[in-house]
Amino acid sequence: MSSPWEIVIGLETHVQLSTASKMFSDAPTAFGAAPNTQASAVDLALPGALPVANRAAVERAIRLGLAVGATIAPVSVFARKNYFYPDLPKGYQISQFEIPVVQGGHVPFLFNGAVRQVELTRAHLEEDAGKSVHGISFEGQDATGIDLNRAGTPLLEVVSEPVMRSAAEAAAYARALHALVVWLDICDGNLQEGSFRCDANVSVMRKGATQYGTRAEIKNMNSFRYLKQAVDYEARRQVELVEAGQPVVQETRLYDPARGETRSMRSKEEAHDYRYFPEPDLPPVRVGEALVARMRAEQPELPRARAARYQGSLGLSAQDAGVLVGDGGLADFFDAALSARGGGAEAAKKVANWLIGELSRLANETGLPPRAWKLTPARLAEVLGLLDAGTVNGAGAKLLVEELFRHGGDPAELVRRRGLAQVSDEGAIEAAVDAVLAASPAEVERHRSGKKDLTGFFVGQVMKALKGKGNPGVVNALLKKKLGGG
Ligand code: ADP
Ligand code: MG
Repeated sequence: MSSPWEIVIGLETHVQLSTASKMFSDAPTAFGAAPNTQASAVDLALPGALPVANRAAVERAIRLGLAVGATIAPVSVFARKNYFYPDLPKGYQISQFEIPVVQGGHVPFLFNGAVRQVELTRAHLEEDAGKSVHGISFEGQDATGIDLNRAGTPLLEVVSEPVMRSAAEAAAYARALHALVVWLDICDGNLQEGSFRCDANVSVMRKGATQYGTRAEIKNMNSFRYLKQAVDYEARRQVELVEAGQPVVQETRLYDPARGETRSMRSKEEAHDYRYFPEPDLPPVRVGEALVARMRAEQPELPRARAARYQGSLGLSAQDAGVLVGDGGLADFFDAALSARGGGAEAAKKVANWLIGELSRLANETGLPPRAWKLTPARLAEVLGLLDAGTVNGAGAKLLVEELFRHGGDPAELVRRRGLAQVSDEGAIEAAVDAVLAASPAEVERHRSGKKDLTGFFVGQVMKALKGKGNPGVVNALLKKKLGGG
């Protein structure tokens, strides 16, 4: 039975821009420094300190805007968003309100086998707050400290329209946006360090309804898996409330992954509660046509365009092309390995298979993005060369790739040192086949009488005898001959 409910989701994503210095000061943005060693007079809100907008942050915002086909505002305005919080020394956050730098646009991505597009409302520049650090010891007492290293770090808040209709779709959009900001090199994409955080706005309405239900906002998720779980949970919670005749309260909630539920954090403020007004200490941001034209010309090939190229001239499936241009950051590695291998559709399929299979598995297991792998694209191409030349078999290539991924090195040299060379010598393989057949008379009998096809079993035994290095083609052919056609 299909549900009578429709889920409505809009995401607000905080993208930390990868500038060397902060949004309005010259303090560094590097992660992990000792508390309060990266906070300038501006970040500390000392009286008389004045902000200056960081040009590199504005350019990164424009880069995203161009990539999503947005309007770049020729003049945009910073605004003060007033609220009290211990980690916000000024008592307000500098953000953009009425006129953001990026307006409109859309993010395309592959979802359920088709290209889907999520419309953006806007993307505005703002500064991050500091951090309250609980449970520190101060003069022998248990205390909460304030670390202002993060205060003033540049953020681009990307706001989507409420157009997503399932948790899976919201997670797919978030992944695509993440892939895009890393692709554009405007964000380091580090989820653990909080460089990419999503707030999910969720409401439910009866299918066919024309008015959205009241929404709750789930704050600050830095995992796509948790994002999906949180939206699923929240939608179910709201449906249960409405079905029981109770109202959904507009509020801010937090997701607790350990319990798999969202919990109320505070009631939701309205924009007027923040008493927004234009920031008097900063002039409007002016973006000239020449800058936009230059940046448009310098724009890299975008993920969807590259996926289309992979499907077209290289003949990859939509699925494979989608994975390559997705948030694993595999596309550049793919291009480099394929070009080292000489290009072409046949090589493309093989390079893609290794990247999407074995290497994605290793990347997931270790959490390492391609640029941190010890295996280089050229080395992967060499392994594929060894495989095509029959120097190693599939199992040997797999061992090689794993070893190179973890420790690096020269593939041909590793084959020698680790004795991974494939055994294709008929004499050696025949001896192994004979030994296996002699040791398994009962299985041979069952196989020959046609009761059971034990080819797989014999291949496994022979491969084991050859320490996994047998040439599968020769092993199969010899077994077939000796067993009388199988
Ligand atoms: P704020 O959260 O700052 O008050 P907005 O009202 O502009 O800002 O909405 C923020 C986000 O909430 C947007 O991503 C928008 O798509 C989403 N949103 C708005 N209304 C709903 C709704 N009824 N259900 C789900 N999402 C919504
Ligand atoms: Mg919000």
